[in-house]
Amino acid sequence: MNIPLVDLKANYLSIKKEIDSAIQEVIENSSFIMGKYVKKFEENFARFCKVKHVVGCSSGTTALHLALLVSGISKGDEVITVPNTFIATTECISYIGGRIKFVDVDPEAALINVEKLEKSVTPKTKAIIAVHLYGQMPDMQRIREIADDHQLLLIEDAAQAHAAEWNRHQPGYYGDVATFSFFPAKNLGCFGDGGAVVTNDDDLGEKVRILVNHGRITKYEHLVEGYNYRLDALQASILDAKLPYLPKWIEMRRKHAAFYNESLPEEVGRPFEAMGAKHVYYMYVIRVSKRDELMSYLKEHGIGCGIHYPIPLHLQPAYKNLGFTQGSFPVSETLAKEMLSIPLYPELTEEQLTYIVDNIKQFF
Ligand SMILES: *Cc1c(COP(=O)(O)O)cnc(C)c1O
Repeated sequence: MNIPLVDLKANYLSIKKEIDSAIQEVIENSSFIMGKYVKKFEENFARFCKVKHVVGCSSGTTALHLALLVSGISKGDEVITVPNTFIATTECISYIGGRIKFVDVDPEAALINVEKLEKSVTPKTKAIIAVHLYGQMPDMQRIREIADDHQLLLIEDAAQAHAAEWNRHQPGYYGDVATFSFFPAKNLGCFGDGGAVVTNDDDLGEKVRILVNHGRITKYEHLVEGYNYRLDALQASILDAKLPYLPKWIEMRRKHAAFYNESLPEEVGRPFEAMGAKHVYYMYVIRVSKRDELMSYLKEHGIGCGIHYPIPLHLQPAYKNLGFTQGSFPVSETLAKEMLSIPLYPELTEEQLTYIVDNIKQFF
């Protein structure tokens, strides 16, 4: 058997007709930039997320950049986030001249350690980027309180967390702004790059809408210099065709995760789902001490695996100048050695899931 870590083709084939006709319609209308397809997806996604404003944009990275641009941060201000995330989270802090301030994650959920977060706030801190890694949100209610106590802007990096919840609220509820990625492999993915900024704040929403499209307020009038960070209409129409299926796909992910939780051998550390969290399992991340051996074993048996992420950000060559060493953020460093992502997507069959579990049992 051959089971890749992600199977984009299986997902496409499951709704091929809808996708093909959505793409064809955009081509026949030749409405590629902005226009009705982008608007329709933005409206539908806003309804889905229960937020007032959605601005489509060209990737999860540009979504974060836009969020930071409207956050009122000036050069040298600190933005707090975690070392256990994808580099896009911190790249955007640097894009606007902010200073990256890392706070280690907690060992259970691998999400921001809220106690450490509170202690790390200084007078220079201006914003927090909470990362909903693997599809799970941290305690957003507490993080919102910390942000309010210290007058910090709260940004949610929800690239991996479409439809995730904390106390029944999705990304965009607790944060001033939340950002999504529609990278093909994400839980809601397009056929290239795409992203969105969501907010309930009219002022922030308006600013993002202007910046995403060259600072335009009318066709030929530019209020400020902006960016060409638009979501294109083909991607928007693909996303709009997929959106109605997302709740079902999330349920399948959760069902498969429950199967793994029940069936994996006891040597395997399961992902932790906190009380209050609805985990959407963008990744199913297990923990094992003999991680590299298990990974090669599974690969030899045709099972795709990945590590998210093998090098914590503070140890990346790109951040050498920040002066961190081994031991600076021990929880993230230990996780980087023990974590393994195994296949988890809606289209996995019972036979495939059983094959994966059997092989892990055989390894042990
Ligand atoms: C994917 C991802 C991003 C960036 O999204 P792109 O669409 O690839 O630019 C940012 N943050 C996290 C946590 C991600 O997983």
